[in-house]
Amino acid sequence: MLTKVIEQNKIDHFAKWLNHAEKIVIVSHISPDGDAIGSSLGLKHFLETQDKSVSIIVPNAFPDFLKWMPGSKEIFLYDRHRDIANKLLAGADLICCLDFNALNRIEAMKGALQASPARKILVDHHLHPEAFCQIIISHPEISSTSELVFRLICRLGHFDEITKEGAECIYTGMMTDTGGFTYNSNNREIYFIISELLSKGIDKDAIYRNVYNTYSESRLRLMGHVLTQMKVYPEHHAAMISLTKKEQGQFNYIRGDSEGFVNIPLSIKGVIFTCFLREDTERPMIKISLRSVGTFPCNKVAAEVFNGGGHLNASGGEFYGTMEEAKQLFEKALEKYKPLLTAKG
Ligand code: 5GP
Ligand code: MN
Repeated sequence: MLTKVIEQNKIDHFAKWLNHAEKIVIVSHISPDGDAIGSSLGLKHFLETQDKSVSIIVPNAFPDFLKWMPGSKEIFLYDRHRDIANKLLAGADLICCLDFNALNRIEAMKGALQASPARKILVDHHLHPEAFCQIIISHPEISSTSELVFRLICRLGHFDEITKEGAECIYTGMMTDTGGFTYNSNNREIYFIISELLSKGIDKDAIYRNVYNTYSESRLRLMGHVLTQMKVYPEHHAAMISLTKKEQGQFNYIRGDSEGFVNIPLSIKGVIFTCFLREDTERPMIKISLRSVGTFPCNKVAAEVFNGGGHLNASGGEFYGTMEEAKQLFEKALEKYKPLLTAKG
């Protein structure tokens, strides 16, 4: 049995909205990850069983390793289909915002979302949600938005309407936001939910292979290169990896090729904090990814040093400047946070 995580009044409110909504749009964040796509598709598959007309819009492309997901081909990318997307947003009865807590996380879509007269609901697990929706279902203690979508559907009384396809999408989001259930995944209810999803006929082993074992040769070689260049800071229990545009060119880099790299240095004994700096291919900036294990708050570093944010153990930000400057900033942060990084326990 599952704990009733989502407040009853919000379930009732949303159920009422659903009764009256025909055209529903689901929106998720820039550079969508497995949870963004998984939660969006999981909700779409369910809503379609309720005879709703449902569209998903995300700001830009998502990685190839998510393209096997049922329904992923119908997702609109705002940067390619702006006119259609604007019409869908303006004409929606209901907009469901999934897996983001702030309007700037949807970048160019922000204006069209705000301007739409549709009712809006947020379902998310990031800290400190902005108040841009009338119903806000925000649970940072839950490890993925996909899990929240499962809980929402169940609380609406529709577990039976979750299809195998919907279950595959929800499982994918839960799996990717916990690194294959290796972090943020000690809540035993997660495993109850997995059991329920398995009852829908999903093949979780195949899903794992679809997502994680789809490397191209050049991606694996890029990983080898990045790790060879890695800098380790034993005294700070930290490590840093980076990827310049030049290196991306050398290894035929395509979007998504460096997904997950940031986690690898955490497998070094003693390392509890890692940073990955990647020169963006489209914008003149460096994308920062931070990860930690235990209580070290990498979101604090992201907010303070890289104008970003995120979760305690997974955060990110942006830096406008050179790679060298970004590295120096990170090293300065390591010095500042040394007491926390080396604290026992
Ligand atoms: P990733 O390293 O996978 O890009 O991001 C990990 C997490 O950090 C995301 O789920 C998100 O919560 C947060 N994050 C990443 N980039 C940014 C950013 O530029 N700004 C903010 N506020 N959060 C970010
Ligand atoms: Mn998420």
